[in-house]
Amino acid sequence: MTTAPTAPAPVSPPTTAWRDALTAVVALLLPVVCVGCGTPDRALCRGCHTLLRELPGRTRLVAGVRLDAAFEYEGTVRTLLLEWKLRGRSDVVGPLTARTGALVRAALAAAPGAVVVRVPPSRRGARRRGFDPVVSVLRRAGLRRTPALRRLPVHPTAADPADVVAARAGGGQKERTALERVAATVGSLSAAALADGLRGRDVVLVDDVVTTGVTMAEAVRAVRAVGGRPVRCVAVASVEV
Ligand SMILES: [Zn+2]
Repeated sequence: MTTAPTAPAPVSPPTTAWRDALTAVVALLLPVVCVGCGTPDRALCRGCHTLLRELPGRTRLVAGVRLDAAFEYEGTVRTLLLEWKLRGRSDVVGPLTARTGALVRAALAAAPGAVVVRVPPSRRGARRRGFDPVVSVLRRAGLRRTPALRRLPVHPTAADPADVVAARAGGGQKERTALERVAATVGSLSAAALADGLRGRDVVLVDDVVTTGVTMAEAVRAVRAVGGRPVRCVAVASVEV
């Protein structure tokens, strides 16, 4: 804070300096801790911002298609994504959505004219959250109203004993065996409603988190089933495989 009234006011101060000053003032009134590391500072401290900037992205193959993930799904990135998805903390994921949006733009630059298609959230996740993180990511890439694959009910009769056992155990996807995951995922996504727009076209698929890759592989299958050509998958984060 300056006490010299004669000091000339800066004509065009860098916006980050103003934002930092404003954040400092707000922090005095509303003490917050950094979601990433717990430091009493702001919702996402400068150290975590720097850390995120320095983290490398991840590239892997899913069903023969290149997947570009902005980050590895671990540590601070995992924490921030969970805060976003479970608590709606959209204020802390700017660095994540910005880098992912850039990956979507890069995918479109590599495949001009490609159609961007969203992998839809799980029914449970969508109900709980009331928002789709992938929509936010695509907005950062300047893309609005992107179509999504449709989720279909799989095993409506719950006839697969393995699924019943997994459900009883309260197990999510992680606790299931690979075979059970595949059985519960194949046929769970459909591109039928988008068929006219995807047939013969390059397609970029976008999801938030890729772990086993089974869901993304199912998305690739669904697009291929209607004659689309998945050329790139993009995600905010992927586990290391
Ligand atoms: Zn931090």
